[in-house]
Amino acid sequence: MAEDHPGVDDELREQLECNVCTDVFLNPVTTPCGHTFCKECLSRAVDVRNQCPLCRTILLVGACAEIPVNVTLASVISKLLPASLAARRERAAQEAAGTRATDGAGREGLLPIFVMSEMFPYQKMQLNIFEPRYRLLVRRAMEGNRRFGMVEYDRGAGGMKSLGCEVEITRCDPLPDGRFHINITGRRRIRVLSSRVQDGYALATVRYLRDDDDDLIPCPSVMRPPDYAQLETLEDDECVKRLMSLVQNQARLFKETTSKTIAKMRRGPRPSSRRFREHHAHLLMFLHHLASGVPLETTDAEELSWSLADTTRAHLEGVHPVSTSLLSIATAKERLMLGLHCLCQLGANAEQLYLHLEKETEEDGDGEGGENGDDADDDMEEDGDVEEEEEEEEDVDEEEDVDEEEEEEEEEEEVEEEEEEEEEEEEEASRPIV
Ligand SMILES: [Zn+2]
Ligand SMILES: [Zn+2]
Repeated sequence: MAEDHPGVDDELREQLECNVCTDVFLNPVTTPCGHTFCKECLSRAVDVRNQCPLCRTILLVGACAEIPVNVTLASVISKLLPASLAARRERAAQEAAGTRATDGAGREGLLPIFVMSEMFPYQKMQLNIFEPRYRLLVRRAMEGNRRFGMVEYDRGAGGMKSLGCEVEITRCDPLPDGRFHINITGRRRIRVLSSRVQDGYALATVRYLRDDDDDLIPCPSVMRPPDYAQLETLEDDECVKRLMSLVQNQARLFKETTSKTIAKMRRGPRPSSRRFREHHAHLLMFLHHLASGVPLETTDAEELSWSLADTTRAHLEGVHPVSTSLLSIATAKERLMLGLHCLCQLGANAEQLYLHLEKETEEDGDGEGGENGDDADDDMEEDGDVEEEEEEEEDVDEEEDVDEEEEEEEEEEEVEEEEEEEEEEEEEASRPIV
């Protein structure tokens, strides 16, 4: 290996060193204020504070990322200090290797972790990355295989939960102020075996979960669908096929009944019982989830079961708190069972609500033709129930969105909602989403 030039004395050497890492410049970049740093050193410095580390001149983070490497200086260093440069490069490579996701071909791997919310395979999310440590995580992921782990924050224990999802960055837009807007898609389940903090974020040794793992569980028996006994007699492949068609049918039935019910709500009075009004709110939310996130036509059982899992979670949270994460439900078959169970419950609720409305409309109409919408509206005005009427209008708006099935708009809405949800979480747990 070439040795450093003997003519380089300490004084000259100092001129060729970065003030941030106190090592010889690697990929030197010169700021508008005239100071030079390693490219990576400058990026990390301005992540924390958008100033020159030497003279404190305000620097634009996005502009710093665009500064090209000073070619002349780089070649001078490689001529004068080849040995020092090789050592510097080696250290940088080692550091990067220790902080990036491994290729994950084996059963275990190293994954940087973004601690926020639960995500499932196939699920999509949009994030606004502004915290310095997560900006670093994203930059490193983009230089590597674009993967990191998403694990839910554990409110109880204060750390992160043990089950999560490996996600892939499918789109990355760097903003001028150093933030990133990224789109991510869930890829596969992980279990965090151990973790340490590296440059501010958690770097975890994870195991990629397989459906037959011991620590995964079947669908809880209380959440088995009505046809369970008959389904159990089928071979696994047959059972999955049968479940998929049952889910698809049940989802269509649910959409029909709910649309019918909503149409009735629009024409007639709101149900007098609070329970039914709650039913109604749930049904709207679930209908929205189904329309925007579940590809009912798919032939991929994994995709259907995971897409449904997101919707299932929304339903279960409304009905009774879930003690186990849906990430721990072992196979597509078991997740489809659970999804079907929820769809059946919701379908029954929608049907019940419809019958209830029909009965109320009949009573209100005093036998003058139960479904006369004008009569019903007049009744409400006489009651002076203006607030309720306004509420109803809101419901109608939502419903129209779903009816028209403007899928793109739906998706955008979904994203905005998610960002809002994340905002709330941030307030509570200072999570990294604006
Ligand atoms: Zn440096
Ligand atoms: Zn400066």
